This record gives sequence, structure tokens and C-alpha cells, in this order.
Amino acid sequence: MIPARVQDAALSLAEAPAYLYDLPGLEEHVAAVRQALPGIELYYAVKANPDPELLRVLAGHVDGFEVSSAGEHAHVTSLFPGARVALGGPGKTDAELRLPHHRIHVESPNELRRLLAAGLEADVLLRLNPDLPVEGAALTMSGPFGMDDTGVAECLPLFDERVRLRGLHTHVASGLQAAQLLDLARTLLDDSYEEVNLGGGMAVSYTAPDDRFDWAAYGCGLHELRRGRRVRIEPGRALTAYCGYYVTRVVDVKRVRGEAYAILLGGTHHLRTPVTKGHDQPCTILPTGEGPGVGDEPITFVGQLCTPKDVFARKIVTSARVGDTVVFEMAGAYAWNISHHDFLMHPKPAFHYLRA
Ligand SMILES: *Cc1c(COP(=O)(O)O)cnc(C)c1O
Repeated sequence: MIPARVQDAALSLAEAPAYLYDLPGLEEHVAAVRQALPGIELYYAVKANPDPELLRVLAGHVDGFEVSSAGEHAHVTSLFPGARVALGGPGKTDAELRLPHHRIHVESPNELRRLLAAGLEADVLLRLNPDLPVEGAALTMSGPFGMDDTGVAECLPLFDERVRLRGLHTHVASGLQAAQLLDLARTLLDDSYEEVNLGGGMAVSYTAPDDRFDWAAYGCGLHELRRGRRVRIEPGRALTAYCGYYVTRVVDVKRVRGEAYAILLGGTHHLRTPVTKGHDQPCTILPTGEGPGVGDEPITFVGQLCTPKDVFARKIVTSARVGDTVVFEMAGAYAWNISHHDFLMHPKPAFHYLRA
């Protein structure tokens, strides 16, 4: 269910499509996450959604930001001079290796050699690509990310007094439950490293939006495993997914060979998430329309793009009329910022921010 304040705002929008961000909702959520993690450092992975309004809310609750490019670094440090920044990402350029940071996550022995050659001070976490099964994950970060044990062993003798080894970093998968992340933590929090960043990837369910990641269980588990070490996590999706809504209207309805379609203003060039994840984006239909309708039958919701891939949700049993307002939920992470905005040159959505 969408909160009443979001529904009211969606109904009073002058133009659609638009993004609505529920900033009080975000604040409440991140405060609860923070509280569930005593003694654990909480960073936000900026790539999930770098919107400055969201970052300003998050900045009041997180210990720092994880950035993965010079662009994200410039964005965060201009908004929050002095904020703690962990710099990650595969394929860092020499310019990126020179950026000021609280921590830098080194991805390979060659990257470490280039960092040493830069001649600057650096505080390094080695990104480990652990050989662990991650069943049920939405996306696994195996392949080119980080190093195996051999790569880590190659790095260890290279450190000097300017380029310091602080510990390990890992980010193994997206869509993990607390128990799986705790298994990972148990393996990585052995006694060799004083500091470990366990990454992000906390599960978000688009099919059952009310099934939330169990932050309390994760926080308790980490508290037991920590034993005086410095432990950091860097979630993205599970922090901001819930606070974003993409609001649009039905512009046409039709049946083609028996299949009902509702055509919406905008499309997946604004909200690419259902295409990349291959899911039905959860939505609520507000009956504001008075035009022709299709009803009580499986309806496929598509956008204005001239491609069969422009699908928000398939065969949802509901009713829709021309002029109805459709509110797509869970559009606060990997949504607008991963979308191909200029494809077909339709107008861009407006952005609205609900405030306390
Ligand atoms: C993307 C990413 C994250 C955040 O992942 P979520 O699934 O959004 O929580 C954290 N750390 C690294 C290194 C990443 O690449």
C-alpha cells in the first residue's frame, strides 16, 4: 500500500509522468536501519540513487558514502565537503586513484601498483572476490570484481608506510537475506584483518514489497561477530528503493488479439528497473479516469516507446481507464538514474519531493 501522503500528492500532480520522493519515509527508514546496527559503520552506495535531496536526508544518518567514479566523488564531495568517502569500482583511472578518500577499495594487484606509483597517501581495503556460494541472489558479483586469494597474496608485500593496508572489502551479490550475509561475515571476519567492509546487496523484494530485509537480525549477528573490529556495510537499493514513486497516467487502452493493454505516458526510459530485473513493477491504480476502459482482466502496462521491451508489468488482473493515475512503487533505487532518458525524445518527468 502506498502511504496516504504519497497518494494525495499523486492525485494533485498537475503533470505526469513525474517522480515523487517521500523524504519523510526515507528518513524514517534510514533512521531505523541505523538504529538496528549498533557499532557498525553504515555507508550509502551512491550508485543506487545519487539524487541530492535523497543524499541530504541520508547524510544525517550514515557514516559516509561509497562512490565508484570520479563523477560520483565530485558530486558527493561538493554536496558534503568533509564527508567520509570510500572510493571503489573496477577500472579506476590514474586520476581516480589520486582522489582524496577515507578508504580506497583496490580491485587488483596492478591497480595497487599504480596507486603506489602515484606517490600519494592512501588507506586501502583489498576487494576480495570470495569463493562462496550465494544461492538465490539476484545478481552475483563474481567474474572480474576484486581478487581471489592469490591476488590478495600478491598485494600483501607491496604496501609501504604511505599506502597502508587497512583491511578487506567485499560485495558479493545483490538480493541477499540477513542469514546469507551473516554467513559471509562469519567467513570474512577471521582474525587476519582489523577492518572489513561487507558491502551491500541486502534483499529487496519487488514481488512482495512488504517483505523487508531483516536489519534487526543482521545488526544482532554482526554485533556478535564484530569482536572489537571495525565493520562497515554499504547498502544502496535497500535504503532508497522504497521512497521513490513514478507517477503516470493512462493515455490509451486497447485489446489486441484478446490481450488487454494500458498505454501509459512515459515509459521504461524513465523507469528501467522492470526491464533490467525482468519483473512486474509493483503499482497502484488510482481511478481518476473517465475515458474508455478495460476491466477485471489481465492487463499489460506499457509505455510510449516504440519497442516491445517497454513493459512495466505483465498481465496484472485489474481495471484501467484512460485518465487513470498509475503509481509505480519501489522506484527509488536503480530507476531514473539507470534509464536511457533520451531514447525517442519524449519529455522528461518532473521531480517532486514530499517533505515533513
Ligand atoms: C552496487 C554496490 C553496492 C550497493 O549494492 P546494493 O545491492 O544496491 O545494496 C555496494 N558496494 C559495491 C561495491 C557496489 O558495487
